[in-house]
Amino acid sequence: MKQNKSDYAAIALFSGGLDSLLAVKWMQKAGYKVYPVYFLTPYMPIERALESARDNGLDLIIRDITTEHLKMMHDPNTSFGKNLNPCIDCHALMFRTAGAMLDELDAHYLISGEVLGQRPMSQRVNAMNQVGNLSGYRDLIIRPLCQKLLRETAPLREGWVDLDDMLDIHGRGRVRQLQLAEELGITRFPPPAGGCLLTDKNYTLRLQDLISHQQMDVENLELLKYGRHFRLDESVKLIIGRDERENGCLERISEGYTVLLAKDQMGPLGLLTGELTDPQIMTLALNIFWTYHPKAPQSGTINVRQGDKSKEHVGQKDKLELVKQYIISYD
Ligand code: SF4
Repeated sequence: MKQNKSDYAAIALFSGGLDSLLAVKWMQKAGYKVYPVYFLTPYMPIERALESARDNGLDLIIRDITTEHLKMMHDPNTSFGKNLNPCIDCHALMFRTAGAMLDELDAHYLISGEVLGQRPMSQRVNAMNQVGNLSGYRDLIIRPLCQKLLRETAPLREGWVDLDDMLDIHGRGRVRQLQLAEELGITRFPPPAGGCLLTDKNYTLRLQDLISHQQMDVENLELLKYGRHFRLDESVKLIIGRDERENGCLERISEGYTVLLAKDQMGPLGLLTGELTDPQIMTLALNIFWTYHPKAPQSGTINVRQGDKSKEHVGQKDKLELVKQYIISYD
């Protein structure tokens, strides 16, 4: 072991969740130099990580891996989890990207907040080994929260990291993590749920729809985060905001899309995506949109805006059961 632990720096995979936060803070408290890196994808809300880093005094580095993640989603090496979450490939991609940053940051090894046995898919020994192998950096990975239960890798073998500084947390419970948080003075961290959208069944249904219509790109993925989605034909989708926040988000990203807004009625914002050439599809969109104005009369006027041009159309309410056959949702 070298005298100065900070001679060898680590890059940490940081999601903002408690486990990755604990791994970083624990290593820092033990005297190691750690660079926490957040890997940006369309599926994880960055706000959670930013807030968690800010609340806990971490200088967060952000790397956008959207392009690589989209490519991987089309053809992962391993299978998806319960929904459309390719956790093993995803972790491997993050470790691989972190590994490629070692020289840039003058760092020597990689750490994560994984806990053995905590997640059925990606946190078993075999899965962790698979992640390591797929990443190409298996021998440089340390998992401080459970490393005492894992095989030795180069940072321990070479004496960059002391085994006595490693922990042996395992299983699905959170008691040890909460104790450790208290010990480290961590009082603010996000709840366990609310992380990755790829584990949300309605989101993944909408994602599957995009994939099967060859429409999975950055713009469509951004839209997927908001509103009710209706598949109208092979190309066209209607999106209707569910509340004020979603209407605002949709309005902000509406450039290039057809925007629907009821005239003289309070109500949601609608967006049409895709190639709209069939007038019957337009009528269907208008009627579905108008149906989501519960307090409006049976029919009414809708402003349809495309760029700086706006035209008035009439929408008619349909039966909700009819409308729901177009919605992409389990609810
Ligand atoms: S939960 Fe989402 S972000 Fe986390 S490893 Fe799985 S796919 Fe990746």
